[in-house]
Amino acid sequence: MSTIDNLPPLRDVINTHDLRARKSLGQNFLLDLNLTAKIARQAGDLTGCDVLEIGPGPGGLTRGLLSEGARRVLAIEKDPRCLPALAEIADAYPGRLQVIEGDALEIDPLQHLTPPIRVAANLPYNVGTELLVRWLTPKDWPPYWQSLTLMFQREVAHRIVAEPGSKAYGRLALLAQWRADAQIVLNLPPEAFTPPPKVSSAVVHLTALPQPRFPADAAVLNRVVAAAFNQRRKMLRAALKGVAPDIEDRLLAAGIQPTERAEQVSLEAFCALARAVAAP
Ligand code: SAM
Repeated sequence: MSTIDNLPPLRDVINTHDLRARKSLGQNFLLDLNLTAKIARQAGDLTGCDVLEIGPGPGGLTRGLLSEGARRVLAIEKDPRCLPALAEIADAYPGRLQVIEGDALEIDPLQHLTPPIRVAANLPYNVGTELLVRWLTPKDWPPYWQSLTLMFQREVAHRIVAEPGSKAYGRLALLAQWRADAQIVLNLPPEAFTPPPKVSSAVVHLTALPQPRFPADAAVLNRVVAAAFNQRRKMLRAALKGVAPDIEDRLLAAGIQPTERAEQVSLEAFCALARAVAAP
């Protein structure tokens, strides 16, 4: 029996179901249930919430989310070998765990979820950034989720919370911080996982803001930011040449010196620039 529920320890689960980790699926499992419960607690008050979990694997974080009081967990897992282990968890928490076998990049989970909804996942690294960008760029804002609590390689986590002037500052920071509060809430060494990955990891908690921090059209902001950081070493007047023919005037209208580089420009100034670019 484990410390958080009446199910067997995860090492036994892995042995019983022969869940040898597969690199191709980004499988680095968390086997310490105290740690998975701690990660679940970072997701906020789960009582009364549906939680979307991507990549439950043998179910360590799933068990943490359920034991921390999630109303329901919807888990999407690509590896069919994990399904019997997850079925045991579903039996232990009747009516509270639904598992969908498939690729999270191809499944729309919304029809299976009832608000309020939180997302929590120890993501496979190969799909983590792609999913984050999708969660941050829905057609309408606020999004369907209240918060995202996600494991990333530490380097990616730093890119999400980066401030202007730092090397990590770029598109991901601007995208995340424009419409969400983003914080690193936990750092984990490679040894926290089985097998240990080559890099350290961190859990990032993002809370959706009711509306964007500064007004801007999402598509224009995205275009400006992409162009600015595609050539981050260049001055903005050169990097943004293709965005508008009179870009120097528009930069000045937004209060940005045309000789500045993308790395130094704040989110607020990028939003002002997006408005200036969108202006007639
Ligand atoms: N959550 C488990 C844990 O913390 O121990 C497993 C985490 S492991 C880093 C990533 C999990 O995501 C694996 O179980 C893997 O099979 C699954 N996975 C990989 N690609 C996926 C995809 N595209 N859609 C859904 N699950 C995926």
